[in-house]
Amino acid sequence: MKTMLLQFLCAGLAASSLANIAVVPEKIPCAVADRQEFQHPDRVQLTGWVGSRVTGNEQNRLVKIDTARLLEGYRKRPGRQSWDGEHVGKWLHAATLAWVNTGDAALREKLEFTVTELMKCQLEDGYLGTYLDKDRWGEWDVWAHKYNLLGLITYMRYTGNMDPMPTCRRMADLLCRTFGDQPGQRDIIKAGHHVGMAPTSVLEPMVWLHRLTGEARYLDFSKYLLRSWEQPNGPHIISTLLSARRVDKVGNGKAYEMLSCLNGALEYYRTVGGDRQILDACLNAWQDIVDKRLYVTGAASYREHFHDDFDLPNVANVGETCVTTTWIQFNAHLLRLTGEARFAEQLERVTLNQLFGAQSPDCAAWGYYVQMEGKKPYSTSLDGHCCLSSGPRGVALIPTFLASTDADGVVVNLYDAGTAKLTLRDGSAVSLAMETRYPNDGKVQIAVTPAQSKEFSLKLRIPAWSRESSVRVNGERVNATRGADGYAAIKRTWKTGDRVEAEFTMEPRLIVGDHSNAGKVALAYGPLVLAADESMLGEQIKNLGGLVIATTNLAALNITRESATDVRAFRVKTQMRKTGAAAEVRLVSFADAGGSGSRYKVWLPLPRQTGGNELLDGTESRSRAGNLSGSIIDDDNESVVVTFDSTAAKEDWFAVTLDAPASLRRVVFRHGKSFHNGGWFDASAGKPKVQIKRDANASWETIGELADYPATTATTSGKLKPGQSFTVKLNEPMSAVAVRVVGKPASGDNAQQAFASCAELQAFSE
Ligand SMILES: [Zn+2]
Repeated sequence: MKTMLLQFLCAGLAASSLANIAVVPEKIPCAVADRQEFQHPDRVQLTGWVGSRVTGNEQNRLVKIDTARLLEGYRKRPGRQSWDGEHVGKWLHAATLAWVNTGDAALREKLEFTVTELMKCQLEDGYLGTYLDKDRWGEWDVWAHKYNLLGLITYMRYTGNMDPMPTCRRMADLLCRTFGDQPGQRDIIKAGHHVGMAPTSVLEPMVWLHRLTGEARYLDFSKYLLRSWEQPNGPHIISTLLSARRVDKVGNGKAYEMLSCLNGALEYYRTVGGDRQILDACLNAWQDIVDKRLYVTGAASYREHFHDDFDLPNVANVGETCVTTTWIQFNAHLLRLTGEARFAEQLERVTLNQLFGAQSPDCAAWGYYVQMEGKKPYSTSLDGHCCLSSGPRGVALIPTFLASTDADGVVVNLYDAGTAKLTLRDGSAVSLAMETRYPNDGKVQIAVTPAQSKEFSLKLRIPAWSRESSVRVNGERVNATRGADGYAAIKRTWKTGDRVEAEFTMEPRLIVGDHSNAGKVALAYGPLVLAADESMLGEQIKNLGGLVIATTNLAALNITRESATDVRAFRVKTQMRKTGAAAEVRLVSFADAGGSGSRYKVWLPLPRQTGGNELLDGTESRSRAGNLSGSIIDDDNESVVVTFDSTAAKEDWFAVTLDAPASLRRVVFRHGKSFHNGGWFDASAGKPKVQIKRDANASWETIGELADYPATTATTSGKLKPGQSFTVKLNEPMSAVAVRVVGKPASGDNAQQAFASCAELQAFSE
């Protein structure tokens, strides 16, 4: 990569806020030329919706971080938990990028302090992890060295302060000495989790360090890491992706670590070139994920792993934010290497939906798993939360790929209001000023200002979801069809004052569910996936269970933007689930849904067939609130509730109350999950009972018991299986306004407490 003095021209920033940044050059050039350059983050200044998330990430998360917490596990080993060491390097990476973007002096000061203090924690032999000597190299300390290298190298290259170089060299040299396939060296596959994918993902910063220092030994070590993948005990990453072409067959399928390895592999390929096997393996991985293992919001895993084809439950620890960020990096790497718009298309999908959905609306907190329904688990605590330091990295990367340059000119990948100060490959400057309310509407105006009149191409990504697109230059319509690389290229002699107006059809879309979402639909608007948010459904339908989408006829739903303001909310004409009466509901973008702590849902059912669950539009309650955010009226066995509160209880119950009486013939209770310390009913104290209320003022009346419930005790769950269902059939229909199942909770291996769990409570009229 060429080094250039960043000319510092960003409108709206005080000149004093940023010094001129000279990016430290690398000694080894890349063998494979980039098709698109990544931009230094100060080049792209965003002021639209995306910009508000980028700025908020810097101001409300990164600059507010408690540096003592980041350094704690290094200052006093061991760290409070096994991967505590990763946070500081992840923060250094994100905070450096954010500082380059904003020039915030307070953030720079925090960077200087943290880097200086982290360097002091390095041990004599180069070790910079959070383990005691006796516990080294078994779990997550190669992993922490990886993040320290990524963070410190990013810091050095952008600040020009090379003080951490000896620290980085000593870290890398320690790894090179310790691990290898020579006599006396350790096997790195055994130095961490997930079939060695965690420790060997140190590949990416090893390649960076090789290019920055010119030292051959870091490249040799990188080659060893690639060899280790194909050892008998290794994860067989490249060979499996070339043969089986399935990510779920690689190693143990762990998504975050695997994608981290693939990002390193792409940096290696970019650096040394040679045969295309690595690139082909990564392209196979990308195609497999996009075709069979990607959620509609761009989330790419559940329970942190890749699973079987189309096995994408809506609730099952879906969408780890570490995976979201690493998927963004993977797409950005492939975009840089290939220059193909399909990777930018995925960047838009995952950024505007899953990434912003994981970031709290005030940008201060992050969610770990951000599922297709439930509640957003926003947190600000790093304790045990890998994702809390991954999300900010994803957001800080946005200015590096939103607009770009290639051999033909300039490229716009994602749309937001703001400016891009770009440098063409011949060194001439071109600035873009973008005005748009995207994604509130599909109009984008771009003022193109070259330093002098010049012929080049302006490439626009024509979104795949846009049915029609038009592009005008200075008022005259130009050809907007996609070229081989997927972009619409406008080649002309550009001069100051030229103005491009693009318009993409920003309209509602209906996505019909398949596989486990058969019978459901998701709604989208342009790039935004929509969701129902229980706190803002509207007047007629009060809870998520009562919401159906009336039809797959999109026109009949009459989806309209709620107002001219920048609220990404929409009105949808649908019907009441039970009566079929016309009703109107509000939906919001997935990013905004659940922002106030309320429940939300992406996949919405079509109207029920006969024999539907009468309780779906009821109000659920339980004897004790518990600590899970599931639901017992969402027709989803994976979303479980518990009554756990660390105390004992003689009785626990799960109930659903209806607004109007329903006629019931059958009640179904689905067990949640059994945990080591309880979660089931203790049937030795009597089988769980089904009770109803005949009207709102009546008392509970027992109508039956779960006769098939296995012979459990307080300490053993017997033959009980997760999600197992138990049915009570009534001889005559009974009219009820409330139903509950009640029993004695179990304590498992901890007699100080007890709790029960439930996946679903259902009642049917026939
Ligand atoms: Zn995570």
